[in-house]
Formats: sequence, structure tokens, C-alpha cells
Amino acid sequence: MKIAVVSDIHGNIHALRAVEKRLNELNVEDVWCLGDTVGYGAFPNQCVEWVRKNCSVVLLGNHELALLGFVDTFLLNDYARQAIEWTKGVISPENLEFLRELGVQRFTECCQLVHDTPESPGSMDYILTKGDAYRALLSQRKDICFFGHTHIPAAYRLLSSTVDKLSVYSLYLDAGRYLINPGSVGQPRDNDPRASFGVFDLDEKRFSLYRVEYDTKAAAREILRAGLPEYLAARLILGV
Ligand code: ZN
Repeated sequence: MKIAVVSDIHGNIHALRAVEKRLNELNVEDVWCLGDTVGYGAFPNQCVEWVRKNCSVVLLGNHELALLGFVDTFLLNDYARQAIEWTKGVISPENLEFLRELGVQRFTECCQLVHDTPESPGSMDYILTKGDAYRALLSQRKDICFFGHTHIPAAYRLLSSTVDKLSVYSLYLDAGRYLINPGSVGQPRDNDPRASFGVFDLDEKRFSLYRVEYDTKAAAREILRAGLPEYLAARLILGV
């Protein structure tokens, strides 16, 4: 069974449509979404509707927590705060109701799923270094944990108390504990503007990362048209 792992869609329907096309080609049977479906982009409703329809697991990210009033928006950066204020004005009551029922982590038979870190889900802490990953790997409650939040694809393995950073592009999940980030669909920050997502093949125990091109200029134009900060449009073109 092949499961897609997506995160940080951030209201970018242009990127999401390109990812959807590739998911159909890959015969993916299910999708897990690690949160931050809204914020930054101009199409929060369309993206929430997509995850409602396609994902068996959807988590709350920090942008949803702010949108729902569960955390104060002053904890977000200026761009994120402005985007959340804008999103509050356009999000539909049905989508808001759907988001309100979600949690900050989920367990499946094989995996732990979080938006930020298994150490303290919902804390908004980032896993960016091997040290961060080490603490997270020790705290996770399944051998495989998927996380998002950094918008940077990454994979770490803990084996006999040593942490290794592995290539995330094709990974055989053998002995040890794994902590894997599929990158961001809607706002990649690793200097590669292509949408990022992962596919986890449960039978083969293999994780593969995919990057797909999409019309970044169209997504950027819509951000400007919505009156959102210019930088949120510019960064899509650069992948930062
Ligand atoms: Zn995010």
C-alpha cells in the first residue's frame, strides 16, 4: 500500500493540483497531511476542501492553531500573522468547523504523525539540526515519525544511539528509528521552488521524496491580487 505524506500546503492550490496529478500517476491509495494547510497562500478554502476529500489523516499546524485562536498570533512572524488575519476573513464556516475537530498528532499502526516535533506536538519547535533530531527520535513513540513545519525535506535515523542524517530521496526503512520530513507542498524553503511531498510504501518499507514543478508565477500573482504581503509571492519563485 502506497501512502502519500504531504505537509505545509499553505493555501497554494496551484502546487496542490500539480501534486495531485503526480499522486494519481503513482497510484497512491491514501494521503496523510501533516498540517499548515492554510496560511500564506491565497486559496485556503480550496486546499482545506482537498484535504477533507483526500486525506485519512489531517493534523493541525501552527497556522491552523492561530486561525482557530488556540495560540496567539503574536507568536507568528509578521508575514504569517498578516496572512492569518486575511485567512480569518475568507475561510468558510464549514472548513473552520472541520479544522476545529483536528488534533496536533495522530498514531497509525506503524507511525507517529506530527506537524512540528514528537517531543512536544503543538509547541511550534523546529527540528533543524542533528541535535534537535536526536531529542525527537528519543521521544517518539513509534519507530517511524513523520513531521513537517520546517518546509525542508529531511530524514534522520537513530541506530545504536547514533543519529545519521540520510538522503531523503529514496530511503529503505530498515533497522532503527526514523524521523522524516516530506518538505512543503506550497512553500518550499530549500532553494528549490518545486512542490515537495513523499510516498511511503508500507509493503516495501520504502520512503521516496518527489518534487514537482508547478506554475509558481500564477500562485504568486494570486497572492498579490489578494493583497497579501509581496514577500509571500516572491519567496515562491525562489523556493525560500
Ligand atoms: Zn508551515
